[in-house]
Amino acid sequence: MNLSTPIEKIPRIGPQYQKRLKRLGIKKIEDLIYHFPHRYEDFSNLIPIAKAEVGGPFSFQGEILEVKNIRTFRKRMMITQAVLEDETGKLKAVWFNQPYLIKTFKKGDYVCLAGKVVKKDSSKYLSNPAYEKLSHELGIKNYELTHTGRLIPVYPETEGLSSRWLRFIVKPVLQKLKNQMLDPLPETIIKENNFPPLQEAIWQIHFPDSLNEAKKAKERFAFEELFILSLFILRERLKLVREKAIVISINLDLIKKFVKSLPFKLTDAQKKSAWQILKDLSKPRPMNRLLEGDVGSGKTVVAAMAALNVAGAGYQVAFMAPTEILAKQHYKTLNYALKEFNLNIGLITGKENYLKKKKVKREELLEKVREGKVNILIGTHAIIQDSLGSEKKNAGVKFNRLALVIIDEQHRFGVEQRARLCQDREVRSTKYEETKKSSKLQTLNFKLRTIPHLLSMTATPIPRTLSLTIYGDLDLSIIDELPKDRKKIITKIVQPKNKKEYYDFIRQQIKEGRQAFVICPRIEPAKISSEILGEQKSQRALSWLEVKAVKEEYQKLSKEIFPDLKVAMLHGKMKTEEKEKIMKNFKNRKIDVLVSTSVVEVGVDIPNAAVMVIEGSEKFGLAQLHQFRGRVGRSQYQSYCFLFTDTPGLTINRRLRALISCENGFELAEKDLQIRGPGDFSGLRQWGMPDLAMASLADTFLVAKTREAAKKILEEDPELKKYPLLKKRLEKFQERIHLE
Ligand code: ADP
Ligand code: MG
Repeated sequence: MNLSTPIEKIPRIGPQYQKRLKRLGIKKIEDLIYHFPHRYEDFSNLIPIAKAEVGGPFSFQGEILEVKNIRTFRKRMMITQAVLEDETGKLKAVWFNQPYLIKTFKKGDYVCLAGKVVKKDSSKYLSNPAYEKLSHELGIKNYELTHTGRLIPVYPETEGLSSRWLRFIVKPVLQKLKNQMLDPLPETIIKENNFPPLQEAIWQIHFPDSLNEAKKAKERFAFEELFILSLFILRERLKLVREKAIVISINLDLIKKFVKSLPFKLTDAQKKSAWQILKDLSKPRPMNRLLEGDVGSGKTVVAAMAALNVAGAGYQVAFMAPTEILAKQHYKTLNYALKEFNLNIGLITGKENYLKKKKVKREELLEKVREGKVNILIGTHAIIQDSLGSEKKNAGVKFNRLALVIIDEQHRFGVEQRARLCQDREVRSTKYEETKKSSKLQTLNFKLRTIPHLLSMTATPIPRTLSLTIYGDLDLSIIDELPKDRKKIITKIVQPKNKKEYYDFIRQQIKEGRQAFVICPRIEPAKISSEILGEQKSQRALSWLEVKAVKEEYQKLSKEIFPDLKVAMLHGKMKTEEKEKIMKNFKNRKIDVLVSTSVVEVGVDIPNAAVMVIEGSEKFGLAQLHQFRGRVGRSQYQSYCFLFTDTPGLTINRRLRALISCENGFELAEKDLQIRGPGDFSGLRQWGMPDLAMASLADTFLVAKTREAAKKILEEDPELKKYPLLKKRLEKFQERIHLE
């Protein structure tokens, strides 16, 4: 038995349990022993029965004198009763509704029971104690105990996998592996930080001698995970620096013409970001830049500038967005913004395809992309689907001269998806023929293996400390300034009893020519268990519930509240054409109030909309609320965000408070990190980061420390030749990411 032994080979794990373990991603012994408890039950207070007093928890060892099942009065409940005896006295133990226990204990068995002592009608008894049979003798030392008489690990709750069962499986595995676990952490790091060695740490995290030992073990593993993450990121970064990319010189005339054509003046922050991007593009190594800018700060126009510069040099641009609505919006925006430049802009989604503003067949579009005749291809995931490993030749999107990849709302995509677009590929060079009369673009006949430049964009800012670790030294451009004409959005929490007043206000706004969004409450995923239905089915069920909620809200608003206004609804299950039509009508002001699910969360740009109502706002996360709010306040009009709540009297919700007091996405991100931990920002969960490491990401100090340590090791030994175990651990981490 070793770390890579599959769980099927472990004795005592039947097919049912194998399935359940796999659902947690536990496939090998290694996964099993790295499945850490999230807390401990302290049963270490082992005392003689005579000393039992109300309270606890205590552990007692003794002999079973009798055991029986009793049905209670109302015959509703089965009680199992046992009497335990040691040299000092007797104590009753009672279990509720576990009649099978009668088969577990026999008279004369030696056992250890652990739990709270309670008193009823002047008799003391142990209530629902944890139990464990002792081989025969009493006075067993607590390190041989597993479920009682010590600190007991409690694992994250999962249907069908109890902590007791996990302890029962994990402990013998740990004992068997004793001398096979080799520590990937370099010795210097262990010493410097005073960490317990792996062998000991893994034991102590599962079956600690004291809470302090458990804490030390935890710190070690948190360090290890973040350290590996940092190593990974820094090495990817080093690799990228060595790669080649197409050099796209800055075409100032083109850029100037574009800027002139805009109906507004660029903000200084937009100019600065655009300049940084254009400069990156002109270097022979791939750009890897994140453009962070709060909602509404105008990232799209900056991306358009980069796309124009690349397309103008004869290369292709891929522009990926997370939703169909957004992809389509970008398609329209770019067509409009770049109309003077005679470019071929295409749109590919799972459902329909456009080229030069006309609907085309998928095959036709793909062919044009392959021939290099599409300058900018905008799309949803469809842009990467089948692009690899497809059986049918020409089935997927294949570019001819891809030089720039733009990913909007990049946090919505997985690492692997991003990586797919940014693979290296052969690209033909182009060259300008300059004659006195004209300039002509010419495709040269030599190919270069290059990696496209990558521009990712996000409005969900990542707190500084995190971004350093997650993105390494990724270059950052920040738009920290909103266009000049914007007014501060007025944000209010609205109690159920005051709704009417606000509906009247909304009507007034609409009379003044504005429009409103109403977002339907989030459906709690807990209502339908993905355990039972399976992940996919439960997702589907969830979106149907969402549709139902939208329909109800739509009925209410259109019939009762705003019968005089034009109300429409939007949800993810609608046909593409239908969604399309609604968005178009909303944009053209044929709709006053748009009732929607969270499909409009990211990116949607309707400058005339000035009111955002979020029903059941307490159910959304801070980042999401901020995104919703960002749908308004995109023009010179005063805008409003009303946070409707279903909970009367709710005024002290921390998230909602934070949203009111703070309009800046960066500050909100820091606050969110404090309130909820880093889970939502990073997409790291997708990388299979364990909870322990996820939680430690909020520990700025630790994050910085691991990064420094990783840097130091790589400076001294970039290939990790001196650290084969560490290298192996890193390779495993990479595997995990690529399997995503
Ligand atoms: P986001 O950064 O959230 O993606 P968008 O790119 O969708 O924001 O831009 C939001 C709105 O602001 C759009 O309607 C866009 O035309 C407009 N806009 C962009 N830059 C400016 C500017 N410098 N001045 C005025 N309006 C601008
Ligand atoms: Mg956007």
